[in-house]
Amino acid sequence: MNSYPLSEMSREGLIKQLTDSVENWDFIIIGGGATGLGIAVDAASRGYKTVLLEQSDFAKATSSRSTKLVHGGVRYLQKGDVALVVEALRERGYLKKNAPHLVKDQRFIIGNYKWWERPFYTIGLTLYDLLAGKMSLGRSLPMRRKEVIRNIPRIVQKNLKGGVVYHDGQFDDSRLAINLMQTAIEKGATVLNYCRVTRLLKNGEGKITGVTAENVLEGGSFDLKGNCIINATGIFVDDIIQMDNPEEKPMVRPSQGVHLVVDKSFLGGDDAIMIPKTSDGRVMFGVPWHNRVILGTTDIPVKDFVLEPKALEEEVDFILETVSRYLEKAPQRKDILCVFAGLRPLAAPKNHSDSTKTKEISRSHKLIVSNSGLVTITGGKWTTYRQMAEESVDTGIKTGNIPFRKCQTRDLKIHGYLLNPDRTKWKYIYGSDQAEIIKLEKENVSFGQKLHKDYEFTAGEVVWAVRKEMARTVDDVLARRVRALYLDAKASVEMAPAVAKIMAMELKRDKSWEQQQVKEYVEIAGAYILN
Ligand SMILES: Cc1cc2nc3c(=O)[nH]c(=O)nc-3n(C[C@H](O)[C@H](O)[C@H](O)COP(=O)(O)OP(=O)(O)OC[C@H]3O[C@@H](n4cnc5c(N)ncnc54)[C@H](O)[C@@H]3O)c2cc1C
Repeated sequence: MNSYPLSEMSREGLIKQLTDSVENWDFIIIGGGATGLGIAVDAASRGYKTVLLEQSDFAKATSSRSTKLVHGGVRYLQKGDVALVVEALRERGYLKKNAPHLVKDQRFIIGNYKWWERPFYTIGLTLYDLLAGKMSLGRSLPMRRKEVIRNIPRIVQKNLKGGVVYHDGQFDDSRLAINLMQTAIEKGATVLNYCRVTRLLKNGEGKITGVTAENVLEGGSFDLKGNCIINATGIFVDDIIQMDNPEEKPMVRPSQGVHLVVDKSFLGGDDAIMIPKTSDGRVMFGVPWHNRVILGTTDIPVKDFVLEPKALEEEVDFILETVSRYLEKAPQRKDILCVFAGLRPLAAPKNHSDSTKTKEISRSHKLIVSNSGLVTITGGKWTTYRQMAEESVDTGIKTGNIPFRKCQTRDLKIHGYLLNPDRTKWKYIYGSDQAEIIKLEKENVSFGQKLHKDYEFTAGEVVWAVRKEMARTVDDVLARRVRALYLDAKASVEMAPAVAKIMAMELKRDKSWEQQQVKEYVEIAGAYILN
């Protein structure tokens, strides 16, 4: 895959492209999470003139706050949603094939404490493997008690009868979002963060012909014309739908999911655990991720549609309490390195009542076309973003009267593509870009300096994030480029002044910008730290 020249990534250059280069776009995509970025990659790789506008940073909302699983969804199988599982397992296979630097095979172990659980879960998970067909990542097998203990040394041993091991995919969500943004640009799309769509433009017949957007960072606004406008704004889709038609009923019911991040030693091995039935009847995971373990998640209906949702005390307690029943030396509040919350854009059925439990609302996506021609896509999963993108573009081709071209993404390598990276070093996450970052650090000694004594992250990664990954704030770097916020929120606050200083030099900003950035970051990170 080509590495793109720096000039193509400059914000000024991209904004110029936006306003000067194209009179009428084929696709204008609103929203730069998994769904919107996937659509931009799909449309651009078919050769369409494509622009994507994100109001904040890429993956700032739900797409950086997932459990980091590329999965078919064992629990959807429990509920008999076979079609959803088959679709997700197929997509899991494509994603692992096209982004092998970010997606890996992860073993999950279910500990069994009742005699019937081992045959029950072995049969269920064998069906899961069969549904994956040749895309299966490995066979599910029963495990003897001592094997379970060997692989999950910290598992509660009292009454443990044995277990079952199965395979699923695991990834880094916001890193994949950044790589999708780069892929879209390499395929010819214009993709910009910090540009918010504020208005939809229509012709005399009420058909949508474009959008008005404002440049959130540098100021100013611009009108863009396009054949098909796609609303991929996750939990915010109703805002855009209501810009189109204020009478329309809301379709999204957000559900909050919280995760806790603790040291990897709490599991004691490289395998993940799956708790098949929590006290509220769902599943919970403990998944190793970058030398940490992610524990979660909760699932509660909420009313606020915000970019920075906050974990509730009861959610933190629920996770700690559930996990304490499965891990011998269970984590306490003081062990939590980060707590993060995300909002699922669940597309509610038309006849939903407020009392419908969110875990009962389907996780499948919804694609609708308004009378004005606005295409809206929401719901679904990170795992199925590619399929959602293909369907959205196919639909947009029809509504926008755009000449048909076939989808290319099943075999499209995602930026950073690298087979078998050495996952013992943090920088593997950059895939094929790793070599470029190391080169940068060798060229300038100061770029090789670490941001924190306890972590591998370097000044060079900050420079890289600004130059090649469109990072514009300290939060962009620490939360979604190097993931320090998610791995150790307190330590990330200690890194903030150094990051702000490097960014100020790269972006030619003054001391007051630097100070303001640190202040804003400390405020954001506060919500990820438990007191
Ligand atoms: C707790 C939790 C755990 C999950 N775990 C998994 C998992 O393990 N595996 C999995 O496959 N899926 C998982 N999911 C689901 C997955 O994360 C989501 O389906 C996916 O991230 C949704 O992406 P999106 O692009 O639709 O929405 P978002 O990521 O929310 O993106 C929408 C974007 O639109 C932007 N936007 C809004 N309004 C405007 C505007 N006016 N102008 C421009 N931009 C705008 C927002 O800023 C936002 O960035 C999980 C979800 C949650 C909440």
